[in-house]
Amino acid sequence: MTLILKDISKRYGLTEALTKVNATIEDGEFISILGPSGCGKTTLLRIMAGFLNPSEGELYENDRLISSASIQKPVMRKNFGMVFQSLALWPHMSVTQHLDYVLKAKHLHLTSAQRQFRIEETLEKCDLLSLKNRLPGELSGGQQQRVALARAMVGNPGILLMDEPLSALDAHLRISMRKEIMRIHQLTEATIIYITHDQQEALAMSNRIMVMNQGKVQQFASAEAVYTQPLNPFVAAFVGKYNLFSGQWHGDGFQVAQSDFCFQVSCPNDVFRTLGLCPLRPDQLDFGSQGVAGEIVFREFMGQYQLYEVKCDQGNFRVEIEITRVFLAGEKVFLSLRSNL
Ligand code: ATP
Repeated sequence: MTLILKDISKRYGLTEALTKVNATIEDGEFISILGPSGCGKTTLLRIMAGFLNPSEGELYENDRLISSASIQKPVMRKNFGMVFQSLALWPHMSVTQHLDYVLKAKHLHLTSAQRQFRIEETLEKCDLLSLKNRLPGELSGGQQQRVALARAMVGNPGILLMDEPLSALDAHLRISMRKEIMRIHQLTEATIIYITHDQQEALAMSNRIMVMNQGKVQQFASAEAVYTQPLNPFVAAFVGKYNLFSGQWHGDGFQVAQSDFCFQVSCPNDVFRTLGLCPLRPDQLDFGSQGVAGEIVFREFMGQYQLYEVKCDQGNFRVEIEITRVFLAGEKVFLSLRSNL
């Protein structure tokens, strides 16, 4: 099933939460919607789930119109499963009862034996069989997370919508749950639409990433493309943590403002050319014998590299350097391009 969003806008009073969002999401894709707080991610997900109507625009499942400003009655969608940020588990229900409740509420007309089979099958996929009689209060954070996932999956939905499902977990658990969600994606072949404000999570998990800011789609492309070929300064800074140098482009050279140094690098696109900005990631920079002059203000040991913050005339820039090269705050350096680029 293909989900098509056509010029979707949403206003809450004077707040324009979404502006003309267009996208086609193919069957079986894993899409992340990535953006800072308040950019409209949850609003978009709620429209896709049928909890909210757009103020303008239309949402289609294949060629069936399922939501628009004029469709007041939500279209019944048995085909969706949802995992909320808060998990929203019911404290008095066992793991099995959570799944059974959903199957009954969906009016799938299953017999008790068929429901039982579906529940066992889903619990097995989510590695919860041995915990099936426990209450949420008797489970760890990761196990509760798996129950929320199992509950969303038990109706065999074609589309799983997930609203920051890992945000309440600690760093270790988040990484293992990422893998779990990816495994379940492969197993079920359901389309997953996954909201996050964590770019690492989006890059690691998805086929395509929709990067949003202030209610507008900034770029909708593969993880590799949004990371290595950002369309504009927002995507560059938000996803790839690029430094943005200002200056002027001259062919394949960038003359840095307030410096006599020129980076020999090709311009990513006309947006950066017109704005006079050169995006360079911390791993694309080095300290050389010449370059943009600056002074070390901060060093963080990151394990695989040292992350330095360097104060230059234009502002502060970040550079990743091998762990063996240690510089102290106050040392003068020159920012240049890494030679193996
Ligand atoms: P977060 O990451 O913080 O959850 P988000 O990207 O999901 O944010 P939304 O919750 O979609 O953002 O909100 C988008 C904008 O719409 C925000 O400016 C928010 O304040 C506003 N908004 C959301 N819901 C309502 C509402 N019910 N009434 C009024 N304004 C709202």
